[in-house]
Parts: sequence; C-alpha cells; structure tokens
Amino acid sequence: FMASSANVLWKLNQISVTNTLLPLPAFFVVYDAFYAPFHRALHHRSVYAFVHKHHHRQVVPTRGNTDAINVHPFEFVMGEYNHILTIFLVSRYLLPIHAVACLLFLAIGGCLATLNHTRLDCVFLRVPFTSIPVFAVRAHDTHHVIPNSNYGQYIMLWDWVMGTFRPHPQDPGSIESRRKPAARCKLQAEHSHEADMPVVGTKEKIG
Ligand SMILES: [Zn+2]
Ligand SMILES: [Zn+2]
Repeated sequence: FMASSANVLWKLNQISVTNTLLPLPAFFVVYDAFYAPFHRALHHRSVYAFVHKHHHRQVVPTRGNTDAINVHPFEFVMGEYNHILTIFLVSRYLLPIHAVACLLFLAIGGCLATLNHTRLDCVFLRVPFTSIPVFAVRAHDTHHVIPNSNYGQYIMLWDWVMGTFRPHPQDPGSIESRRKPAARCKLQAEHSHEADMPVVGTKEKIG
C-alpha cells in the first residue's frame, strides 16, 4: 500500500515535520480506535476461547516481544492489517505522509507492544485533565490480571472514552487501594481484641 499510494511520499528531500512527526500521534489514536473495540470483542465469552485466550495464558508477561507477538494467528493478521488501515486512513483523510513516518510508526509500535509485556514501569504522557496515562506498561499489566479493562494496545485514550480504563491495583484511585484501608482497620481491630485477651503462656510462666 505504501509503495502504491499517491499520499505516501518516498523522496528523502520531501521529509518534513508535518509529514513525518505530525502523523505519529494520529497513527496511534486511529490504530487503537479500531484495536480497542476489537480487543474488547475478542474477550466476549462466545469467542474468547477460540482466539484471544492463547495470549492470556501468560498472566504475568515478562518476555517482552515474545509475549507481545504470542497471539493467535487471526489476531496477529488482524493487528498487522490494522496498521495498513491506519496508514491508509491517516494519509487519505488527514494529511500526506512520508514513508519514514510509517516506518517510525511500526518501529515505535513494536517497542511499545514489547514494553507492555515487560516488568519495566514506563509511563508516557497523560490524558489532559485526568490521571489516566496515555501509555503505561502498568495499564496492560492490569489487563492481564483484570481482563475486562484496558483494551488499548498502545494508548488508553479509547479505554477512557469506553469507560474501561482501570488503574493498577497498587495505584491510588484503584478499587483495591480504596478497599485496603477498610481491610487494614478490620485487621487492626482483630489484633487489638487479641491484645486484650489474657496471654496464657505468660501467666503460666509467672505462676
Ligand atoms: Zn498482552
Ligand atoms: Zn486481552
């Protein structure tokens, strides 16, 4: 597609900020606009076992690229075609793009998907006026623990729109962190109750 499209420029002297750097954020926004709902659909119980379950066999992904591409072939092909669809839509309806922008999109995308399946705690940017990260390794890590959340591959923007964004259980604002103080109080209450009880062992020693 890149070779045949009139909207994709190839000559090196045609490289500019507008056709090389400007399309990059647009690529990720458009890509995940399709990917996030597709990923959400793959989690529907009628199809989950046939395609996407394979990727979720790894509950704590650590192997980077190996875990990122460890998906069912159908999912892999759909993901790759989604990159082409994204490049088509951005170059056709938004702005003419340079081939270098497409290569950067694939390279950066590959790095982000790899990072998503590591233990590296990387966060880039935040959705304006919210505490929701645009990209965060923790977000995809949370998806592997709580699968009905954080469906975006690269960005959390569409999860924010769909209401499926969920903070990491250890992060402030998460359901788990709100539950914790109550659980801690209960535990403390139980312990203080134990402290009031006579300690049999000590008494025996005194006696
Ligand atoms: Zn994953
Ligand atoms: Zn999933």
